[in-house]
Amino acid sequence: MKESTLDSLDTSASPASLDLRARAETVMARCHALDRFSEESGRLTRRYGTPALRAAQDEVAGWMIGAGMSVHRDAVGNLFGRYPASAEDAPALLIGSHLDSVSDAGRFDGPLGVICAVSAVEALHAADVRLDHAIEVAAFADEEGVRFGSAYLGSRTVTGDLGERDLALTDRDGVSFAEAIRTFGGDPDGVAASRREPADLLGYLEVHIEQGPELEAHGLPVGVVSAIVGFTRVAVEFTGHAGHAGTVPMGRRRDALVAAAAFVLAAESIAAAEPGAVATVGELTVSPGAGNVVPGAVRLSLDLRHPDDATRLRLRDQLETEARAIGAAREIGVGWRPAYDNPAVPADAAMAGRLEAAIAALGVPVHRLPSGAGHDAAALSAIVPAAMLFVRCAGGISHHPAESVAVDDIAVALGVLDRAIAGPFGS
Ligand SMILES: [Zn+2]
Repeated sequence: MKESTLDSLDTSASPASLDLRARAETVMARCHALDRFSEESGRLTRRYGTPALRAAQDEVAGWMIGAGMSVHRDAVGNLFGRYPASAEDAPALLIGSHLDSVSDAGRFDGPLGVICAVSAVEALHAADVRLDHAIEVAAFADEEGVRFGSAYLGSRTVTGDLGERDLALTDRDGVSFAEAIRTFGGDPDGVAASRREPADLLGYLEVHIEQGPELEAHGLPVGVVSAIVGFTRVAVEFTGHAGHAGTVPMGRRRDALVAAAAFVLAAESIAAAEPGAVATVGELTVSPGAGNVVPGAVRLSLDLRHPDDATRLRLRDQLETEARAIGAAREIGVGWRPAYDNPAVPADAAMAGRLEAAIAALGVPVHRLPSGAGHDAAALSAIVPAAMLFVRCAGGISHHPAESVAVDDIAVALGVLDRAIAGPFGS
């Protein structure tokens, strides 16, 4: 397939697009500039509520102010920059992403979307253009959920979904989310008041790295997310009988880990046989966990994803049947405790359509693809029409320092974003 490059773009429609490459270079430089705000020297780790995240927010707030935005933080410490509309009291289009990261992260997952959004407003401000609607750039303070083991604490504040149970979550040092909010300069008692009225928001657009290899395989700089896949998490337990590794004969063993191993392989083959499905066993605890003891019990995590909810639930049931069959054949007890069943979140057709029209206007082939990872857009779609633009990333690598995005691809993303945020919104 022919490679789409910046040089082949049709930029005639928008004067702001003429300097897309210069703007993309600024976006790239700013993504790099945020590297220095990390909890750890030599690697990028920026979890919710840390001084590193606060310092990154202060840096971004400076860029927002320079782009003509007024800046505020909500009760959990999400950062917002607002660029006013031509008329007061006009609703706002929300655009952005998150500034928190996983441990030893790459520099683009999250910040790219925030910084592209700032650039889009900067272009409006430089041209002295006000739109019929306000633009609000959101820099969410917790998307990855690394510190409290719960995702979207930032965007769920905006949707009003955050509750007492979330505030009581604790990190590995025993610090509650409520305490962390205070340390971060926020107010846990103000969380409910930070909920945004859907009537004040036109929708949400997010630019994000793909985190997968599909755009690269198609030779495309950007793509439109069709749906954020649903996922199932199950805690599975295999209970056998512990015994002496030297004295229990093979024929008399009830080895829980051997049953678990059979299940891990079954999860792999069942997912591999279903296009679009992925299954992962990422955690495994063996008891008693000694080199000279036959494993008596194993607890493991199953993460199962598919863009189609019915297919995912069918695979989930198939895996449960398989786990029980493996247990029955080996006289091993099987516990099956579903932890989450989150449905797939389809992109809003009208918002995704704005992105697609903008891509087509640039002369780039329009490509739709599902997101295998969760995003703030999934949370926000509960209250506003939401859509996402994916940017090609090298090798599909993410959540890793090797995360890499090309300046030319950022330029295309900016060209798309410029068009998608402008123009009238239907009611
Ligand atoms: Zn992300």
